[in-house]
Amino acid sequence: MGGDAPRIGVLALQGDVREHVRILRLLGAGVRTVRRPAELAEVDGLVIPGGESSVIDKLSRAFGMRDPLRRAIADGLPVYGTCAGLILLADEVLDGLPGQESFGGLDVAVRRNAFGSQLDSFESDLRVEVFGEPPVKAVFIRAPVVERWGAGVEILATLDDGRVVAVEQGNLLGTSFHPEVSDETRFHERLLERVRARLN
Ligand code: GLN
Repeated sequence: MGGDAPRIGVLALQGDVREHVRILRLLGAGVRTVRRPAELAEVDGLVIPGGESSVIDKLSRAFGMRDPLRRAIADGLPVYGTCAGLILLADEVLDGLPGQESFGGLDVAVRRNAFGSQLDSFESDLRVEVFGEPPVKAVFIRAPVVERWGAGVEILATLDDGRVVAVEQGNLLGTSFHPEVSDETRFHERLLERVRARLN
């Protein structure tokens, strides 16, 4: 890919930044961490990592990143959010902390910590139609679920009980779980495809 490698940012305010950087490098992307508006302006696509959505929300305001992020999303920047990242992409956050906001863009309502404290974290093999075989080994950590979605939202994966845990709308992709911790690369590849399509 050489000099043509798409430049993918990982929002590095808080969360599991390193794991995403590792997967994106593995896929040949030019990866940079993004904390400032000037850094955001230099990337062709963005990952919002897992972590704590309320903390990322607060820090994004402190770093002057919230409005630039909202504008970039509205302008069609391809973005992939995992777990807290999905919450931050949701137009509506259920069970957020008082005053918690999101960047929005995805026409969904997402409930934080939807599995309760007894089921803090678990793994599940998920069938993701658009990927085919093998199933995705999905790691859920204090994970959210998508409880409402608009007509333009495509459901990519559900749990056996029907709860929605992966969605896509235009250039925005969100998963409740963390593919970056189980060496699952197909979601990041999908982000890269969106980025390449937009650059061409
Ligand atoms: N529960 C966290 C939140 O509300 C998300 C957890 C995660 O990203 N693994 O942001």
